[in-house]
Amino acid sequence: MNFENNLEFARDLDTKDELKSFRQKFFIPQHEGKDGVYFTGNSLGLQPKTTAKYVQQELDDWAKLGVEGHFQAKNPWMPYHEIFPKQLAKIVGCKENEVVVMNQLTVNLHLLMVTFYRPDKQRYKIICEAKAFPSDQYAFETQAKYHGFDPSDAVIEVSPRTGEHTLRTEDILSTIQQHGDSVAVVLFGGVNYYTGQLFDIKAINKAAHSGGAYAGFDLAHAAGNVELKLHDWDVDFACWCSYKYLNSGPGGVAGAYIHEKHAANKELPRFAGWWGYKKETRFKMEKGFEAIPTAEGWQLSNAPILSMAAHKAALDIFEEAGVDKLHEKRKLLAGYLYYVLNDINSRQTEKVIEIITPANEEERGCQVSMLMLKRGKEIFDELTKQGVIADWREPNVIRIAPVPLYNSFEDIYRFGEIINSILQ
Ligand SMILES: *Cc1c(COP(=O)(O)O)cnc(C)c1O
Repeated sequence: MNFENNLEFARDLDTKDELKSFRQKFFIPQHEGKDGVYFTGNSLGLQPKTTAKYVQQELDDWAKLGVEGHFQAKNPWMPYHEIFPKQLAKIVGCKENEVVVMNQLTVNLHLLMVTFYRPDKQRYKIICEAKAFPSDQYAFETQAKYHGFDPSDAVIEVSPRTGEHTLRTEDILSTIQQHGDSVAVVLFGGVNYYTGQLFDIKAINKAAHSGGAYAGFDLAHAAGNVELKLHDWDVDFACWCSYKYLNSGPGGVAGAYIHEKHAANKELPRFAGWWGYKKETRFKMEKGFEAIPTAEGWQLSNAPILSMAAHKAALDIFEEAGVDKLHEKRKLLAGYLYYVLNDINSRQTEKVIEIITPANEEERGCQVSMLMLKRGKEIFDELTKQGVIADWREPNVIRIAPVPLYNSFEDIYRFGEIINSILQ
């Protein structure tokens, strides 16, 4: 498409946007009495207007029914988590028996590592991206230590080449190959939180498997953002949170995926709890754990219903919009943003913004990370003052994420105009 950096053009794109009505389904943080420009859906997605109703339903049933709500609530709490797989399977690309909603992201990462990271003297390494999200780094470090390994030997980080910001797939694959049969698990993000780079999950997974290792992915920045086909790609396991692109509220309940070939294997070691126990006889409370032969077999505790109600409200909106339409709009939004940023650069004698997120559409999602070559903090502070909510990372990166459910092309135009006005 031939883009133009002006308000009329942006508004015209909004008028033609098939998903434009979805913005009305969210509370948009206000700035001086008007909608602010919210670009941090990669950090905390906005609240759907329906969330309160979904949560209130459970509060009402709790008030009315007490413990009977487990069976008699409108949405009975005992099997509440069973309402998610159908919708989530479309979002992460898997079968319904491969996905479960439970716990928090880092908790799930640890639980899955308990199953899939079982190092021995020969195979003990974890291959991951450099600058993985800190929580993931701490998980890898402490898992290695827990098993008696030195993290500086066991955790292998793949770094960008000198002068580059993102990883080359060939370097990821060759690192996996190079470490050969010392690799126990390859654990990558889907989209790196800092650079916004979308990794080639399929290729990484395949390389891990050819070396005899497992492959898992932290999809915190990928779920609800980019197309995923976890089952078809033969990914062993994955986890994600629900409060970023999935709009399910701060600290919301998280998700996990386990390929059915593993999920059905009741013998796989795990840390278990009663909610993962065979449903038919769970309440006999007998000795000896017997796993549900699906991803549900990794559940520990009875479900956090209030958080799950918020998750359901958000997923119903995804369902209504349709993932294909969302991906289409996401690409157009990002394309427009790139155009506006290039236009800003072209009006300056020297480049002010270096985009470190890959330009290739196949290697990114919503997020664009801008390395500010000059006046970065000043620009960021002015954006904040004028009602743009973005994210600042030291020393000089601004991360923004225009998300297709509630951001508009006008948001992008306004963002660009503020930067332009500062630079003039
Ligand atoms: C957001 C994020 C987390 C946060 O973990 P919580 O357990 O939800 O606090 C962890 N890892 C990645 C990659 C993230 O993007």
